[in-house]
Amino acid sequence: MLHNLGSINLDHFYRVPHLVHPGETLASRSYQVGLGGKGANQSLAMAQAGGRVCHWGRLGRQDGWARDRLARAGVDVTHVELVDEPSGHAIIQVDDHGENAIILCPGANHGFTSRHRNALCQAAQPGDWLLVQNECNALPELLDGARRQGLSIAFNPAPMSDTVLELPLDACELLFVNRGEAAWLVGLPEASDARVLLEGLHERLPNTATVLTLGSEGAWYQSGSERHFQPALAVEPVDTTGAGDTFIGYFMAALQEQRSIPDCLAFAAHAAALGVQRPGAADSIPSRDDVERYLT
Ligand code: ADP
Repeated sequence: MLHNLGSINLDHFYRVPHLVHPGETLASRSYQVGLGGKGANQSLAMAQAGGRVCHWGRLGRQDGWARDRLARAGVDVTHVELVDEPSGHAIIQVDDHGENAIILCPGANHGFTSRHRNALCQAAQPGDWLLVQNECNALPELLDGARRQGLSIAFNPAPMSDTVLELPLDACELLFVNRGEAAWLVGLPEASDARVLLEGLHERLPNTATVLTLGSEGAWYQSGSERHFQPALAVEPVDTTGAGDTFIGYFMAALQEQRSIPDCLAFAAHAAALGVQRPGAADSIPSRDDVERYLT
């Protein structure tokens, strides 16, 4: 089983003629609400890929539909709490040029305590994985507890922040980073060559395997002196939001099936390539059937 302690956000999309100016009140042309949050996206992707995933999350009481949505996809939602707090949410304006402006309110995603860490460490069995992103609070205690419990930890430090640098990253068995996150972690410019970033990551975390995703330039896996490259599929992207989340969910599902690393990378890259051809975050995550058809 993989335990994903992660954010669940409600993404509120407003189509606007232009991004709102200071002091202005602007009518939106349309409004849509969708499920998002890196944690929820990754759990959904993993479940749709056929993986066994238990999500640990917190949602405002009125937003139980988001929990139902995860459950319908096959995520174990036993530990998604409904609480008397606002759900994590994003207010997203998108203008006619595709430009956006976002207000992100962490809400209930920042209400984790040692109670959640203890419950998770108790529920987990030897050999289970813990997956975390950087949208929830209380990560240092969680990573420490999971390490002491002997769980394998996969970490996606997104969205990147200074607090990541204080985490016990050497407790992680697997790190998922995009180009910007890798550059931040190793203190190099974002435009650095991927191999230079990989070398920097290896120097900083010699015992942690890394998946470095590079958007349309593909993805690398590195563990010690072992390296594999997976090119991205040549597609016309419509919306790349959540590409990394789809990639991670599919990669972890394949890893759970004990497939080879090149197979995990190929499964994940095909899923992400399908995802970027559809709008939305959670809504763009493809089904396993679609991915398998695409692979053959
Ligand atoms: P993130 O969303 O975390 O920034 P990336 O942009 O690196 O992650 O994308 C993750 C993976 O999704 C890439 O390694 C690639 O396989 C796939 N992907 C992303 N953008 C594209 C694209 N334009 N065309 C094809 N595949 C893509």
